[in-house]
Amino acid sequence: MTDQKMWGGEPYYGLDFEFDPQWFLTDEQKEIQRKLIELCHSTLAPNAIESDRDSIFPRKNMEALASQGLLALHVPEKYGGMGQNHQCVIMVLETVARYGCASTALVYTMHLLALSALLFRAAGNAEIEKVLRRLNKDVFIGTASYSDPETGSHFWYPLMSSAEEVPEGWKVNKKSSWTTSGGFADFYVTQTASPDFDGDFSNLSVFLLYADECESMPSSWDAMGMRGNQSGPVTFTDVIVPMDRMVGPPGDGAFSNDEALDPIGLLMLGACFNGLSMAAIDLAKRQATRKTHADVGMRVADYPTIQDYVGDAIMDTQSSRLYTFSVAQLLDSVTENCDWTLHERQPEASPRAEYLTWGWMSKFIAAKNVYEVSDRMLNVCGGSGYKKELLIERVVRDAKAGWLMGPTNEVLRQFVGKWALLGFDSLDYWNQSVNARVMNNEIKKLDDDGKRELIEKLQAELDAK
Ligand SMILES: Cc1cc2nc3c(=O)[nH]c(=O)nc-3n(C[C@H](O)[C@H](O)[C@H](O)COP(=O)(O)OP(=O)(O)OC[C@H]3O[C@@H](n4cnc5c(N)ncnc54)[C@H](O)[C@@H]3O)c2cc1C
Repeated sequence: MTDQKMWGGEPYYGLDFEFDPQWFLTDEQKEIQRKLIELCHSTLAPNAIESDRDSIFPRKNMEALASQGLLALHVPEKYGGMGQNHQCVIMVLETVARYGCASTALVYTMHLLALSALLFRAAGNAEIEKVLRRLNKDVFIGTASYSDPETGSHFWYPLMSSAEEVPEGWKVNKKSSWTTSGGFADFYVTQTASPDFDGDFSNLSVFLLYADECESMPSSWDAMGMRGNQSGPVTFTDVIVPMDRMVGPPGDGAFSNDEALDPIGLLMLGACFNGLSMAAIDLAKRQATRKTHADVGMRVADYPTIQDYVGDAIMDTQSSRLYTFSVAQLLDSVTENCDWTLHERQPEASPRAEYLTWGWMSKFIAAKNVYEVSDRMLNVCGGSGYKKELLIERVVRDAKAGWLMGPTNEVLRQFVGKWALLGFDSLDYWNQSVNARVMNNEIKKLDDDGKRELIEKLQAELDAK
C-alpha cells in the first residue's frame, strides 16, 4: 500500500503514487520528494504563474530550493552537499517540473549541470570548493554557457571563443548565443578553444567565470515558453582569471563534455520533460473529472475517447520515465552511486561516457513524448484548456523547448540512425575525419578550370602555413 499524495492538505488532483516508479527511490529520497511536493504547492507553482506572465527569472524558487539544501543535491557530503545519486537527481527534476515550475526546472537543470562539470574536476581546486560551499548558503546559482552563435545546435564547437595564457593566469574570450539564467547566474561554466588551439575542435578547455565578468542582456528574453528562464546571449571579453579558474587541465573540454556534461545533462533534460508530461496528464485529469455535460449527464472523463487519450499518454510517458530512471540507475551502478570523489582517485576514469548514447536517447524520447502528450491533454481539456486559467496552455508552450534544445531532436535522431547504419566513427563528433566519399564525388563534378582553381586555393593555404 503506497502513501496518498497530498496537495496542500487535500489528496492530489492528478495521478497518485501508484503511477510513479517509486521503487527507484530510497526511503530518504521519498522523504525529499514529499517535502519538495509541499514546497511546489506552497511556493514554486504560485511563483510559476508570475514568472511566465512577466518573464521573471525564478530566483524566489531557487531560494526555496536552497532552503531544502537542493542547490547542492549531488554535491558530495565532504563539500557540504546532500551527496545524492543520479536517480535522486532525476526524481527531483521531474518533481520540480511536474508540480512546480518548468522554467525553474530548466534553470535548476543548468545549475546542476554546471556543478557536474565542476565536481568532475574539484579535486585540489580551492576555488571550486569555495563555490560548492556557497551554494545553499548564498543561493549561489550556476549555469552552463556553451552554445555558440556560429554553430547553433552544435553547441560543442565554440568557434567564437579563445583562451590565452597570460602572466596572471588566463585571458578568456567567449560568446554564447544562449545561456539559461544568462545575466542572473552567479557563476558560469563555459568552454573555449584551448590556449594551444590549432583548429582541432576536440581541443577545448573549461572555465569557471563569475557574474561580474559577464556581459548580458537579460531583458532581451521574450520567448514562447520557459519564459522565466532567461536564455539570452552572454559574452565574456578579455576576462583575466587566475590559473585555478580553468576547470581541469588544458584540453580537458572534450573529456568533460563526454563524462560530466552530456550523459548526465541529457538525462536531466529527459527528467524535466517527463515531469512536464505528467503535469499535463494531471491537469487533464483534474478538468476531465470535474466538468459535466448536463445534456448527457456525463463527465468529460466518462467518454471512452477521453479515456483512450489519457491511457495512451500515461503509457507513453511511463516508457520515457522508466527509460530515464533506468539509465540513471545504470550510471549510479558504474559511479559508486554518483560518488564524484571517484574522479579524484582516478582522474582518467570516464564511466558515464561509456553510456553517452543512452543519454542522447533519453532526451530525444522525453522531448518527443512531451510534444504529443501536452497536445493530447490540451484536447482532453477542450476549449477551456486554451485559456490560461487551467494552466495547461503554459505546459504546451513550455513543452516545445525540449525538442529544440541542443543537441536538437533532429540532430539526435540522425546521430543514432547514422551510427546504427554506418558505425560510430561516421558521426565525426569532433569534426576530425574527412568524408572521402562525399569529397571525391564533389571533385568529380569539377571541370578542368574548377580543378585548377581548387588546386590553387589549396596550394595558397599550404604556402600560408
Ligand atoms: C529554452 C532554451 C534554453 C537553452 N538554454 C541553454 C543553455 O543554458 N546553455 C546553452 O549552451 N544553450 C542553451 N540553449 C541553446 C540550445 O542548446 C541550442 O543551441 C539552440 O536551441 C539551437 O538553436 P538555433 O536557433 O541555433 O538552431 P539551429 O542550430 O540554427 O537549428 C535550426 C534547425 O536545423 C536543425 N539542424 C541543425 N543542425 C543539424 C544537423 N546536423 N542535422 C539535421 N538538422 C540540423 C535543427 O535541429 C533545427 O531544426 C537553450 C535553448 C532553449 C530553446
